[in-house]
Amino acid sequence: MSLKLGLVGLGKIARDQHLPAIAATPGLKLAAIASRHATLPDLPGFNDIDSLLAGADLDAITLCTPPQGRFDQAVSALKAGRHLMLEKPPGMTVTEVEALAALARQKGVTLFTTWHSREAAAVEPARTWLSGRRIDSVRVIWKEDVRHWHPGQAWIWEPGGLGVFDPGINALSIVTHILPDAVFVTGASLEFPANRAAPIAASVQMRMNAAPIEAEFDWRQTGPQTWDIEVQTDAGLLRLSKGGSEMWLDDQPQLVEEDSEYRSLYRRFVDLVAGGRSEVDLAPLRLVADAFLLARRIEVDAFEDDA
Ligand code: NAP
Repeated sequence: MSLKLGLVGLGKIARDQHLPAIAATPGLKLAAIASRHATLPDLPGFNDIDSLLAGADLDAITLCTPPQGRFDQAVSALKAGRHLMLEKPPGMTVTEVEALAALARQKGVTLFTTWHSREAAAVEPARTWLSGRRIDSVRVIWKEDVRHWHPGQAWIWEPGGLGVFDPGINALSIVTHILPDAVFVTGASLEFPANRAAPIAASVQMRMNAAPIEAEFDWRQTGPQTWDIEVQTDAGLLRLSKGGSEMWLDDQPQLVEEDSEYRSLYRRFVDLVAGGRSEVDLAPLRLVADAFLLARRIEVDAFEDDA
């Protein structure tokens, strides 16, 4: 029998990734949506999550709304006894997500805090290749054009929107998955546009045991976009590029694959529900929180969407 799913927030990621991935997932059926503006043909639509929960017969909910305001929506879904899948980041703060995990346990439902970049094709092979090897250093270069990827998204520049850490947390989700030991932030500098509450660029220093980890995040990159992670080891240089879809060893391609991140996420959600389990990993959000805690703040030129 199919899991009846309700989707909340019909923005960029819901349309680009969630709708096609849901349609391609066995054991899952989109049964209704909640949107402030949009409707979908032949599907019941509601204005908000509370009317969705009251009016539709659902087993599970996916929240594709911005992190600000997501906590109350998540509490409504869990209190109503629905399994819940959260877009990344799973909340505005670590404490919010810990409270959701406790509520899910209490209600006996599944909570899945997704990290879509961990599902990129080369991430698991990289983790396997790295296990047992000596890791000497790690470099993260995550540079993209905010005007292209986040056009007009006001929430992303507000407190809780994370700014450049909205994509940067994807890199951190990979780093914390492929490295065998705990990663700590040791320093950071964050560049805030004069007119914005969230950073447009960040450099973050971390370490795993004695190995230094340097990360550069920048939203001002035009032209070629870079989503690379390089790990120097005793057996050579491993590079994950294109957000984790390609793996190279000493500049030789090992694996180059098309994106299927969201299909993997939904298959796992169905499995988690069937097995009565949750998956909640806060490590990437914690690193971002620590970077904000330790950061030097630098003011840079104001940012306008249409400049
Ligand atoms: P978006 O295009 O701004 O869409 C968010 C949607 O949430 C809106 O269209 C709106 O849908 C709903 N919403 C409810 N309250 C809102 C509010 N106060 N302000 C703005 N929208 C509100 O954002 P998105 O890019 O889809 O991102 C949503 C989440 O997915 C974020 O956590 C983001 O980090 C994550 N994500 C995004 C991408 C990407 O490439 N864009 C990739 C991976 C993950 P209705 O009008 O239907 O209510």
